[in-house]
Amino acid sequence: EWRNVCSGIPGGGLLAAGVFGADNATMGVVAGLQGGSLAATSLATKMTARAALNTSPEPFSNGLASLFEDGLVLAVVWLATQHPLWFGVALVVMVVLSVLLLVVLFKFLRAVWRRVSSVFSGSPGVASMFTKILIANRGAIACRVAATARRLGVKTVAVYSDADAHAKHVAVCDEAVHIGGSAPKDSYLRWEKIIAAAQASGAQAIHPGYGFLSENDEFAQACADAGLVFIGPPASAILAMGLKSESKQLMEKAGVRLVPGYHGADQDPALLQREADRIGYPVLIKASAGGGGKGMRIVEKSEDFAAALASCQREAINSFGNDNVLIEKYVQRPRHIEIQVFGDTLGNYVYLFERDCSVQRRHQKVLEEAPAPGMTPEMRQQMGEAAVAAARAVNYVGAGTVEFIVEQRDGGEMNFFFMEMNTRLQVEHPVTEAITGLDLVEWQLRVA
Ligand code: ADP
Repeated sequence: EWRNVCSGIPGGGLLAAGVFGADNATMGVVAGLQGGSLAATSLATKMTARAALNTSPEPFSNGLASLFEDGLVLAVVWLATQHPLWFGVALVVMVVLSVLLLVVLFKFLRAVWRRVSSVFSGSPGVASMFTKILIANRGAIACRVAATARRLGVKTVAVYSDADAHAKHVAVCDEAVHIGGSAPKDSYLRWEKIIAAAQASGAQAIHPGYGFLSENDEFAQACADAGLVFIGPPASAILAMGLKSESKQLMEKAGVRLVPGYHGADQDPALLQREADRIGYPVLIKASAGGGGKGMRIVEKSEDFAAALASCQREAINSFGNDNVLIEKYVQRPRHIEIQVFGDTLGNYVYLFERDCSVQRRHQKVLEEAPAPGMTPEMRQQMGEAAVAAARAVNYVGAGTVEFIVEQRDGGEMNFFFMEMNTRLQVEHPVTEAITGLDLVEWQLRVA
């Protein structure tokens, strides 16, 4: 009965031998228990134990005749009955064996648990990685995404236009689907075709790269509706950060510091003029839907405002189909410092330090640098936390960049203000990869 009671306790047999003395029965029990724990109380070891229990007087030879572990245990027990010194040795051997066994068992169970839990929670794990993705882009970024996918063992599907039939991104992907004519509007911007290509090829997700459809909330939503994972933020976050004015209103609510200015919905020219006068010159008029440095006018004095506004609105309607503007205090000696952020689907956020993009031509970045010259650990932390607050405010997911305009005062003091958030992986992400050693495309895939 007590053989049954102790069954499965590693080292229990040894305990029994110590307490009850090493007669044949004890030896048999010890063999059964130790053998049982080694083989997870398998039938075979129970039978071996039973055989040892019923057989006298030579447990040693019985042991040798049984399975290796049982034989070893029986040998040790037999030795232990011969001399107190051997009992000590046997004790040590068994304790060591038991500990080793427990360690192996623990590692095995932990590996099983991780595997099972990663399947059910969708958290990063090999088991939950995509097997095939479609890359809705071309050129450098398509090749960049394909390289990481290949390293992770994820198959890739390229899409291409007439002009790109022999392009590099087609060659580096595992499959390629032709989606239309050479003009982007006939191919890379035709999202129904791209979604159909993903479905036909069995891809589970779409990586939009940058440019083209990467910041198109309708496309992100269409992917979700089609049961495909959009490797990027949810449509709601893209929309919230899409227009400079709306995103500023949101950031104001989230307590992120803004450049003094006006970003209201009322676009009456007289009101805009009054706001500019209130802010104080020089001011910067910006097209709310603008990007790429377009649709911006610096105004030095009140008399110039009306003409600059009209010219900015003309450019905005032509370039972006939307002539809403916002007005900001024009920061003298500005620096542009942006923070790389990442969010997962569980509400966790991190910032991956800064990129200084102050070297510009016509308000467009020419050179990116990290770390930013003159950046202190305190300011980096403040900017990082502000960037994370911005991302959190829109339930951001994946890779994003929060841009700040930094005012550099005499004496080195720096003030930073939220400018906008880019809801995609940026062209300049390798700068961050270079300083962190991380693969941001891999992070995107794992988050998605
Ligand atoms: P875009 O979306 O077109 O890139 P941004 O709002 O990001 O426009 O601004 C582009 C650049 O214009 C900034 O990097 C900065 O150099 C300059 N800029 C923007 N806002 C201001 C400002 N309030 N004062 C001074 N310069 C600014």
